[in-house]
Amino acid sequence: MNRNYGIDIWGDNNFIIKKSTINVNHKSQPSLLEITQKIRRDGYKGPVLLRFPHLIKKQVSTLYNEFNRAIKEFEYGGDFQAVFPLKVNQFPNFVHSLMDVSKEYNYGLEAGSKAELLIAITQTPIGYPITVNGFKDKEMISLCFIASNMGHNLTITIEGLGELRTIIEVDREFNQDIKPKIGVRIRLHSTGVGKWAKSGGYGSKFGLTSTEILEAYYLMEKHNLLEQLWMIHFHIGSQMSEIAPLKKALREAGNIYADLKNRGAYALSAINIGGGLAVEYSQHKYSKEINYELSEFANDVVFLIKEIAKNKKIDEPDIFTESGRFIASSHSVLITPVLELFSQDYNEKSLRLKNNNPPLISELYELYLELNSSNAREYLHDALDHIESLLTLFDLGYIDLEDRSNSEILVHLIVKKSIVLLQNEGLEELKKLQNKIQERYLVNFSLFQSIPDFWGLQQNFPMMPIDKLDIEPTNPATLWDITCDSDGEIAFDDNLPLYLHDVDVTKEEYFLAFFLTGAYQEVLGMNHNLFTHPTEVVVNFDENGEYRLDKLIESQNIMDVLEDINYDKSVLDKKLKLQIGKSDLLGKLYLYLSENSYIKTIQANN
Ligand SMILES: *Cc1c(COP(=O)(O)O)cnc(C)c1O
Repeated sequence: MNRNYGIDIWGDNNFIIKKSTINVNHKSQPSLLEITQKIRRDGYKGPVLLRFPHLIKKQVSTLYNEFNRAIKEFEYGGDFQAVFPLKVNQFPNFVHSLMDVSKEYNYGLEAGSKAELLIAITQTPIGYPITVNGFKDKEMISLCFIASNMGHNLTITIEGLGELRTIIEVDREFNQDIKPKIGVRIRLHSTGVGKWAKSGGYGSKFGLTSTEILEAYYLMEKHNLLEQLWMIHFHIGSQMSEIAPLKKALREAGNIYADLKNRGAYALSAINIGGGLAVEYSQHKYSKEINYELSEFANDVVFLIKEIAKNKKIDEPDIFTESGRFIASSHSVLITPVLELFSQDYNEKSLRLKNNNPPLISELYELYLELNSSNAREYLHDALDHIESLLTLFDLGYIDLEDRSNSEILVHLIVKKSIVLLQNEGLEELKKLQNKIQERYLVNFSLFQSIPDFWGLQQNFPMMPIDKLDIEPTNPATLWDITCDSDGEIAFDDNLPLYLHDVDVTKEEYFLAFFLTGAYQEVLGMNHNLFTHPTEVVVNFDENGEYRLDKLIESQNIMDVLEDINYDKSVLDKKLKLQIGKSDLLGKLYLYLSENSYIKTIQANN
């Protein structure tokens, strides 16, 4: 098993392993352990979400650089422009960092609802692009007109003819000189691939058919709106695992663009290729999710549009993207404390050997004491044989509970020790056995809150311990979160095995990190069992290269969690006071209620 947890596959050089820890590969290269300990020293317990703005900057500049390189290489006539789709992450600590690190790029925002539009209007500098997708009512379209009036560079992407009719109506009512620009989302006949492919194709919720596009064109012509029509838009779905469907979609969109342009849509000047740029989440070479790189993606887009423009004798349009996952996913890391190892109690100290033990138990004990690398295989077989007999003896009433407990502990110890002794022999049998006796790690987080796509779509996120990386991990691990839901589990998977260390968390801390959680997870996260968004902090680096923790927001306290689902805090307050009376427990109670709802202490420090 790789000790590096596949960091060379999913890590993109964002983190490096230094001796025993995983460190941020930037400036002073602090370890995630050191950052975590610093936050916890300040009293914040439970899971912590770390945000790294320098990783947002890296993604934004990589996107622009690759497209600008391709544009230069192919001597392409149009420009590259981009917006960030807010549905991927609307949290202020993300959006503020995003706008801050991308200023030089004229990078804007894409909104798909009124609330997102409000974020876009207030966070985007005047002149930077804003695109508005999704279903829109008259109010939303009016908001777009108001934003244009403020001076914003806003494009309404129409998803259906009804929206265009509403635009015509609102335009008449507002009767203003400055109007939003218009884009048309096309309904592709080609579809995407992968888990999220439903956004494209004939069955898609979105976009205009060819008949509707023609009708829209003539409607705009009739109502003097062709001047506003500047963009053709499509989106083939998220996490595109291969590039072929994009090429098909581009040919389709390019030809629609050229047709409209030649038909008389004189202001048309951009093709928006949506999002879909994928992220490599895999920790194993054989389960990689993507078969292309950004450079190939950019080359294909630029080359294909250039070809179509040449064939159809039109100017080369600007290329617009709305990649979200690619920009946001790497920026956050979720750090979670391990609270307990399920089999921690199977240790020597827990043995209650008697002066006079049943013979099979005495024998097990001897096997355990005498176990070494030359006899391990044989003794292991003997031990497995004995436990079967011992459990039968218990069922028949011949041995008592203490005997049974001793047998279970001893066999567990023998198996564990054998695995270590035999680990270099590559025995298939041992691997099977090892995988069967997985260790269960109870982890202080909610999977439903922090990686909902694991629950909903079986999307794996890279996970690994942030310490002890110089030691071979030997426990096949199943992770349990702290919700009371049996789905709150990341079961050990033979095909995608995760091994963790054998630690005594009553004596030392052990943290697991989940990577690439920055896209979609936060807002899709649900408050199952009322575990809310974890404590979050922005990790910035100063001129000297030292890191600084900014904008810490603690996970909601218990009273606020209840208020959020509309309990009346003052009523709860009254009831509590009434029930507790004049007791001096009141202070204690209110102290607990002021804390966040994650697990505080099972062991001393967690
Ligand atoms: C969701 C969405 C995106 C972002 O897709 P990613 O796969 O995250 O890049 C872009 N455009 C539209 C219209 C979307 O709905």
